[in-house]
Formats: sequence, structure tokens, C-alpha cells
Amino acid sequence: MRIREVGPRDGLQNESVQLSVEEKLAWIHQLEEAGLSYIEVSSFVHPKWIPQLADADEVFKKLSRKPGIIYAALVPNERGLERALAAQVDEVSIFLSASEAHNQKNLNHSISETIASQERVIQKATEAGKSVRAYISTAFFCPYAGKTPITDVLKLIERFAKAGVREISIGDTVGQATPNHVEELFKRALAEVPARLLAFHPHDTRGTALANAYAAYMCGITAFDGATGGLGGCPYAPGAAGNVATEDLVYLFEGMNVATGINQEKLAQAATYIEAKVKRALPSHTLRTMPGEEVRG
Ligand code: MG
Repeated sequence: MRIREVGPRDGLQNESVQLSVEEKLAWIHQLEEAGLSYIEVSSFVHPKWIPQLADADEVFKKLSRKPGIIYAALVPNERGLERALAAQVDEVSIFLSASEAHNQKNLNHSISETIASQERVIQKATEAGKSVRAYISTAFFCPYAGKTPITDVLKLIERFAKAGVREISIGDTVGQATPNHVEELFKRALAEVPARLLAFHPHDTRGTALANAYAAYMCGITAFDGATGGLGGCPYAPGAAGNVATEDLVYLFEGMNVATGINQEKLAQAATYIEAKVKRALPSHTLRTMPGEEVRG
């Protein structure tokens, strides 16, 4: 079981609070201590678009890296890759949508334009000795176009696999998928590529994230993305949950006797820390069971 912590990037980019570099480093240190082996630290997108992550270069510079941990960052394009390489990231992540409408709105390009540019990023990163992780967002539903055809997702998986990425993370960006849909997509994908190439990125917008994670696991998926505390919210539904809480994912799998290598108590402490920093109650279920938390009706 491989748990990918995406909170410092995917979580913070959807929060309005600006954390200091020191606060980010303290949180990342707690995630390391909890035993996470993969941390998506930041994004090298232009600071104009995501001011919360404008300090990516400085965060990487001050990071005290632990051996055995992959410190990753998102790169939107070749310019972002140059910054990521200068910052000595271990892995770069790239991002596109399976829905043409969402890709156009989000990245301002068609899927074919995006993937052509990303193939250059993959090639350059690989030449520089870095691995690449690809996110396919809106893989189940799109906020503009409705249900995403599974064949569209399979085509992108095949293309990224051919381009030599290390892992492909399949995102339920709007948190609209249900377990039967997740099962169908992963069963079809696993008929084409090995399980080690795939990860699942559930969102909990409608409360289905853990049920969907369970369905993906039962298909043979063993890599999952989460954000501590359920940080991040949903860009399409203000106030709603976004990323599944990493500690809820870990609770699910450890309870099923699937070893994650993560210390649940330390992870919950990291969630408590980030909840205090963003100054709002986060959607994590685990956090609500912590001592000192008021019980809500
Ligand atoms: Mg997400």
C-alpha cells in the first residue's frame, strides 16, 4: 500500500490562507515523522495563478530531506520543469483532464495540445533523471460535460504509459463517482496496464471517497492520494469536502490489515496542526474523534 500525501500542494492551493515557509516545513516534517514516503510539496505553476504556492523554490531550498522519501512537485509546463529541476525535486507531476471542456477551462488548451507539451516535459524530466507522475482529472465526471467516457480515460492512460511515466493518478475531481463506476474504470484499465502504474485520487465531496477507495483496492489498486485533514475543499462547490483525508484512508486500510507504514497517531497530529493553521474545521473524520474535539450533533 502506497499512500501519497498531496496536501501541501493540492490541499493548500485550494485554501485561501497563506502559510509561511516555516509553517509549511513544520507540517512536512510532521508528515515525514508519521511515515509518509511520498509528499507532493508544492507546485511550480506561475505565482500569479496560485499565490499560496509562490514560495515553492524557497520551501524546497529549506527542506531537510529524509532518505527514502520522494519529494515531488507539480509542473504545468517546461518553464515549471526548469524551476523544479533547479529546486532538485525527486519527481515531477503533470496534470490534464480527461474531459475536453474541463481541460479547456482549466489549462486553456485542448487535450491534444496539452499532452503534446507534456510529452516534452516527460522527456526532459527523464533525461534529467527524474521520474514523472501524471494526474488525469475529471476521470469520472466533469463539472461541464457530465459523465466522462471510460474509453477517453483509457486512451490517456495508454499514452502516459507509453511516454514512460512512473505512475498515473486517476482523479475523481468533483467527487461524484460511486464504487461501481470506480470498479468498472479500474478493471478496464488493469486489463491494459499493470497495477503498479495506477493510483486513485478520490474526493469526498459527496461522501463516497472511502467507499470508492475500497472498490479500487478490491480491483488491485494499491496507491492512493490523500491530503491531511481533508485539506483543500472543492473548487466547484464552496464549503464542500475535496481531497479525502489521508488519516481516514490510513484508518480504512490499517483496519483491513493492509499495512501502510504510517503511524496513525502522528498523522492525526499533523492533521491537527494543519487544521489550526488554516483556521477552519476540516472535513477529516479522524479529526472529529480526537481528544478535545467537541462532539457535533
Ligand atoms: Mg485533489
